[in-house]
Amino acid sequence: MNILNNHTMLNRRQVLQMLGIGAGSLVGQSLLSGCAVDPVTGKKEFILLSEDDEIALDRKQSPYQFSTDYGQVQDQRLNSYINRVGLKLSKRSHRPQVPYSFRAVNAAYINAYAFPGGSIAATRGILVELESEAELAALLSHEIGHVNARHTAEQSTKGMLANLLIAGATVATGAAGYGSAANLVQSLGGLSAGALLAHYSRDNEREADALGMEYMTRAGYSPKGMVGLMEILQKNGRKRPGAIELMFATHPMSRERLQFARQQARSTYARFLSGAENR
Ligand SMILES: [Zn+2]
Repeated sequence: MNILNNHTMLNRRQVLQMLGIGAGSLVGQSLLSGCAVDPVTGKKEFILLSEDDEIALDRKQSPYQFSTDYGQVQDQRLNSYINRVGLKLSKRSHRPQVPYSFRAVNAAYINAYAFPGGSIAATRGILVELESEAELAALLSHEIGHVNARHTAEQSTKGMLANLLIAGATVATGAAGYGSAANLVQSLGGLSAGALLAHYSRDNEREADALGMEYMTRAGYSPKGMVGLMEILQKNGRKRPGAIELMFATHPMSRERLQFARQQARSTYARFLSGAENR
């Protein structure tokens, strides 16, 4: 917790007051105990959101994103198939206790995304491109990777700290007082579902790819599925740059990722190459 005090001249109680949050609110309790153990690496990291916060945030935000994407598809068989494959994978992840759920949404653009409490969706646009269950497994386990490595919590912590530092500096120099604190509260509360999704770093993507490969092979799928998925992303990136603009906002660097998947499939995961593909 020294991070806040050293840099801002505010104590924790003042910070909480400034943010308009007390114990019991979404981030209040975790501000009081910010250190968590990364479930994937086992290392200590500074994260302001607890698992309960992640789930609460997910429940609040994910319905908006699903309806922006024209809702869940009507075909219940498709949804339950995707959910079944997803749950098989998430059981083999580092955080099997998260309340995962998987669905297809109606949007035509190519994307898949995960909220921090395990709500995961794939668009119709990407599903029609897939040629095997192993490719679907790759797609879902990449998203499960983001949830396991707590990337949203990590990125929002960075954002909150940056906001605190700016607000703290402003208050400390006496420049703007109450006005800036009010703006800060507004900017935190106004965080949109889309903004939550679009802030993975390149390292986050690399980690999610690596975890995805691990989970899908643990669940019995061939790593060829990940290679196939990366080929789809790259092919569509060349063919229709407009259509997958959003995919690249959340999932950039398709060539590097394809090379990584190929290399992993040949080395670390070569013994799983005969795993299920279910074309
Ligand atoms: Zn990703």
